[in-house]
Amino acid sequence: MQALPSLLIVDDNISAIRALSRILQDLGQICFATGGEQALDFLQKMRPDLILLDAEMPGMSGFEVCKTLKADPLLKDVPIIFITSHTETQVEEVGLALGAVDFIGKPVKPAIVTARVKTHLNLKMAMDKLSLLAQTDGLTGLANRRFLDQRIEYEWLRSRRNQSAFSVMLLDIDFFKRYNDHYGHLQGDECLIAVAQTLKGCLHRSSDLVARYGGEEFAVLLPETEGEGACQVAKEIVQSVYDMGRVHETSDCGRVTISVGVASISADLWPQLGTTITSTSSIAVALLSEADRALYKAKRQGRNCSCFLAVFSES
Ligand code: GH3
Ligand code: MG
Ligand code: MG
Ligand code: MG
Repeated sequence: MQALPSLLIVDDNISAIRALSRILQDLGQICFATGGEQALDFLQKMRPDLILLDAEMPGMSGFEVCKTLKADPLLKDVPIIFITSHTETQVEEVGLALGAVDFIGKPVKPAIVTARVKTHLNLKMAMDKLSLLAQTDGLTGLANRRFLDQRIEYEWLRSRRNQSAFSVMLLDIDFFKRYNDHYGHLQGDECLIAVAQTLKGCLHRSSDLVARYGGEEFAVLLPETEGEGACQVAKEIVQSVYDMGRVHETSDCGRVTISVGVASISADLWPQLGTTITSTSSIAVALLSEADRALYKAKRQGRNCSCFLAVFSES
């Protein structure tokens, strides 16, 4: 069942909040804030599907709240409808130019507010579905390469800011070409789905991410994880795929196995690296390519195992 959409009403006037809540109560879960600062505090903890924002409030105005939200990458896509007693076109223009999706005049007319809120909620839900689709691998349901590329960048920046460890893994199914040749592509696809499920089951923290990297290759991001911990997870993954016991007659092991390459930056390295690092994306890419080298090593060592490249530096 789909979760009920959530709406945030921001108004300094409690009776205006009450009136709007009554009108909109059937459209979603309603939260409220009685000022701009309070709204921003609330939005640190929760991301609603729609905000109804009073333009005129003492302290931080609705326009300022809107400007702040549009500058925040995590909140910029939450649609904002301004509610105001001002009827001048200019005020409306300012609000829309700041990125609001709509403008509703006070006193509010129940049928009109309901219709407009419904329209914008439907649009928001459709956008959410689309962006989820754009981030998901169609076969396995895991995150796709595009999402991985965004997350690795984000996690890298977070790791640099907090001077915390960061580990990544590349994983590759062993002798998968032979598997396809022997069992056919459809069964190959089923095998990919089963391995993806197993990989998911091996990750325990909400910040861990497993993605399909391409073909029969996967990638795992382990933020705030030192090499030692990452190697532990890698071993568990290798063992779990082995324990699936999925028959692969043309593999040396007789069953489906996976090889894993791990690369990490240790928290200890940051004091040396911190000031010298300028480009972020190239380093995130370099971390992946270290994991790729480690993966290659695991393949050379006979597959069905993991290898680790301990030190990561900019040179
Ligand atoms: P290695 O142990 O060295 O990794 O050998 P390998 O055969 O797994 O490696 P290789 O990269 O030569 O082959 C990968 C094969 O994965 C090629 C292709 O048949 C298969 N493959 C890639 N993507 C898909 C897919 O989406 N579905 C299926 N069924 N097979 C795929
Ligand atoms: Mg007001
Ligand atoms: Mg491969
Ligand atoms: Mg392979």
